[in-house]
Amino acid sequence: MTAAATESVDVLIVGAGISGLGSAVHLQQQCPGKSYLILEAQAGFGGTWRTHRYPGIRSDSDLYTFGYRFKPWEGPPIATAAQINAYLGEVIDEHGLAARIRYRHRIVSASWSSADARWHVQALRRTDDGAEQPVSVSAGFLWMCQGYYRHERGYTPPWPGIERFRGRIVHPQAWPDDLDLAGRRVVVIGSGATAATLIPAIAGRCAHVTMLQRSPTFFICGRNANDLADTLRQLDIPPTWTHEIVRRKILFDQAAFTKRCFTEPEVVRRELMAGVNAALGPGHEAEVDEHFNPRYLPWRQRIAFVPDGDLFKAVREGHASVVTDRIERFVESGIQLASGRVLDADVVVTATGFELNVLGDIAFSVDGAPLDFASCITWRGTMFTGLPNLAWVFGYFRASWTLRADLIGDFVCRLLQHLDAKGAQAVVPQLRLQDEGMALKPWVEPENFNPGYLQRGVDKLPKQGGHAPWRHSQDYWTEKDELPRADLDDGSLRFG
Ligand SMILES: Cc1cc2nc3c(=O)[nH]c(=O)nc-3n(C[C@H](O)[C@H](O)[C@H](O)COP(=O)(O)OP(=O)(O)OC[C@H]3O[C@@H](n4cnc5c(N)ncnc54)[C@H](O)[C@@H]3O)c2cc1C
Repeated sequence: MTAAATESVDVLIVGAGISGLGSAVHLQQQCPGKSYLILEAQAGFGGTWRTHRYPGIRSDSDLYTFGYRFKPWEGPPIATAAQINAYLGEVIDEHGLAARIRYRHRIVSASWSSADARWHVQALRRTDDGAEQPVSVSAGFLWMCQGYYRHERGYTPPWPGIERFRGRIVHPQAWPDDLDLAGRRVVVIGSGATAATLIPAIAGRCAHVTMLQRSPTFFICGRNANDLADTLRQLDIPPTWTHEIVRRKILFDQAAFTKRCFTEPEVVRRELMAGVNAALGPGHEAEVDEHFNPRYLPWRQRIAFVPDGDLFKAVREGHASVVTDRIERFVESGIQLASGRVLDADVVVTATGFELNVLGDIAFSVDGAPLDFASCITWRGTMFTGLPNLAWVFGYFRASWTLRADLIGDFVCRLLQHLDAKGAQAVVPQLRLQDEGMALKPWVEPENFNPGYLQRGVDKLPKQGGHAPWRHSQDYWTEKDELPRADLDDGSLRFG
């Protein structure tokens, strides 16, 4: 099979998830003269919200801030995957993005050539009969919106004896259409947002569901409603205003909460545990201490929001239970725990997280030399030393991902305009004299945020430095002011 002729664009966006679609809108609005394409490996848009199809799949942050700043959210704060995909579909229609998206195009390599100051990208297009055809695209700028984890498969730890288990093992990232849970004993391994979502959705449908966790997680319970939004709607305030006002209020409250997690973590711990206690009802105090009192401080891992306390309702009603223990091995009938107890199961769901992937598993090279991404230093958590004309949208952990996708959208457009104004073809971050010898730290510092997939994969990710612009702060509240004002001519970006 020979490759079709190379298509040439100003900007190539990788991925049609929430970041890729938002970036396309920013590019169209702020740089209307730029030509662009979006290449997406899957057969449709949505990314995370298309890949994950397990029962109950929903956001764990509110859609006022997880939605884009440019499109009002009008549903309940916590949304299902179907509602999020419908919202993204409207964005595609309202902004005419469909013609720019090429589905079933998996990018496999990207080579930067300084000679023509362009990225030369190779993709494989999957045809209806499953064949793969090579496709070439050349682009002046690569906008990486490929997320941070491998969509093809989730992470399952290599437990001993797993092959002996007679039941079925399912990862939530590849939920089988034919899985009938009626009358089955289900064990869900994990206690993050996925487990917290899945368990209430299947409790009552199966014989019993057990959440098996190695260690506890923090949860916040609350109504899936926003009083301020409801009031503004009653007053017939235009949706764009309501969206903006509610976003500001949520972000204001989140800033205060995040600050308290660092200044008075033990007070916050007690409050969160009291919330769980109230949701479980009287008589469950010992369980709260054993199963909902994490070893880490609040906000060092994502705090899962439990709308209307549905997870705890399932426990209260006896459809679900929680076990905190370590897996010793799998046995024929289920899982043998370190305590000696055996949890019998017909179905085991491994809600054990993701496989971190680096730049979409694309083989990158710069002027013929393969890229070692881990040796790069980040410029404000979005560009990288040694990688010209490329930005990566990596969102926030403690605030909605999309807040950063919007901020980086503005930044990339400003950078593209700056390149044009200077008559430059290329831009690459470079350390200045005053930055030489700067102590380097991991992409995300473990004492700041430490979920398993990052701990497992942080060695593959770029480093950050100790001062601006080499910090990856993960702090929306400072970045929202700093990134729009970042000086593009302070010497940390080399234009050519
Ligand atoms: C179940 C779940 C719930 C979550 N809930 C929230 C939440 O409530 N709030 C929040 O802030 N965050 C949440 N997150 C984090 C979430 O991943 C991000 O918020 C967001 O959806 C990521 O969007 P994205 O477009 O950057 O990446 P993704 O959603 O990962 O999309 C990336 C896209 O790029 C494509 N792609 C990757 N590599 C290539 C390649 N080589 N070639 C072509 N295409 C490629 C993929 O197929 C995919 O469609 C959640 C994550 C999960 C897994």
